[in-house]
Amino acid sequence: MAASTPHPKADTDSAQDRSISLGIDIGGTKIEGVAMDGGKHLLACHRIPTREGNQAVHDDTVTLIRHLLNQMGPNRGPVTVGLGIPGRVDADRGIVDDAVNLGIRHMDLGPAVAKTTGLPVRVENDVNIAALGAASQDGDTLVAPGTTPHSVAARNQARRPASEPGRDGPRALPDQDDHVVVFINLGTGLAAGIIRGGRIEHGASGAIGEIGHIPVDTHQFPCKCGQCGCLETVASGSAVEALWPGIAHPLPDLIAQASRGNQHAQEVQDIIGHGIALAVQIVALTIDPTVIILGGGMSKTGQPLLDLVTEYLNRSAACSHFIASLSLPDRLRLAPADLPIAAIGAALAGRMAADSRPSELIGKEIAS
Ligand SMILES: [Zn+2]
Repeated sequence: MAASTPHPKADTDSAQDRSISLGIDIGGTKIEGVAMDGGKHLLACHRIPTREGNQAVHDDTVTLIRHLLNQMGPNRGPVTVGLGIPGRVDADRGIVDDAVNLGIRHMDLGPAVAKTTGLPVRVENDVNIAALGAASQDGDTLVAPGTTPHSVAARNQARRPASEPGRDGPRALPDQDDHVVVFINLGTGLAAGIIRGGRIEHGASGAIGEIGHIPVDTHQFPCKCGQCGCLETVASGSAVEALWPGIAHPLPDLIAQASRGNQHAQEVQDIIGHGIALAVQIVALTIDPTVIILGGGMSKTGQPLLDLVTEYLNRSAACSHFIASLSLPDRLRLAPADLPIAAIGAALAGRMAADSRPSELIGKEIAS
């Protein structure tokens, strides 16, 4: 009989295998959620439109959590939750301030969602969770200079065993390396997330990585922060929209027009290319990361963006042996456009926070 009795440790391992990490990325237009298992496999993904205001954000987040858990079935193990949201985030207390695009002035987001669901909840800034999610990726998903999406896909296909599902099925993420990754978010604004040894760096006031408001540019365009010449005014989605207006996806159009010899396009491309390369140099010279990942909405431009930034980094290297010695293009990568990296990062952040808490806080069932 003793032989058929499961070993207590086997029970623990089994519960860990069945554990579920939910990650929710609360954005200005959509809320995207993922469910991952204990082996960091992506199990489910779902998104809903964003509604503004504290109550709506709370209710929609809880709705998405319940939807994902229903998909997991009744035999799941302990559940953890990570939330990513724009604005100033006090990650230790789960508090959000000034998430302007969501209509939130101040909100006790983490405690409110934890109280409603009975689950352990971690809240992080949206750029930080995207950085954590991107840092969890490897050469199979990050695009390097000189490669094309086709060659990356072909390489992935070649490496993937026939029995392994593709992107739509479960896939394992690599273990965290003990190195430094900087994620430059080229969204409406410009900010960087820093991942050191697999963990998010927060700084003293939460303003770490706000490189978009370093005043460096000679054009002295006014910035919404009140200063002039901020890096964000020449290296962000809003910068491209302001300098190349009237186009739905301005950066791919700008690069295409410049390559066809349009002189004005070349002048604007010069400003943007120089600006993003400057952002890369700033993080390289202040943090000296192993890998620098370009992400955010602008990164969906793909290889042409990587080529543009590489060209401007090479220009700096051509006139400086010091900059050349840093091999910056070798460290540059593009975030995958077809993976919900922010929601994945939120799930990882929620799991890591729960792992450092007393075990009795983990594994409560969601309140119905
Ligand atoms: Zn500024």
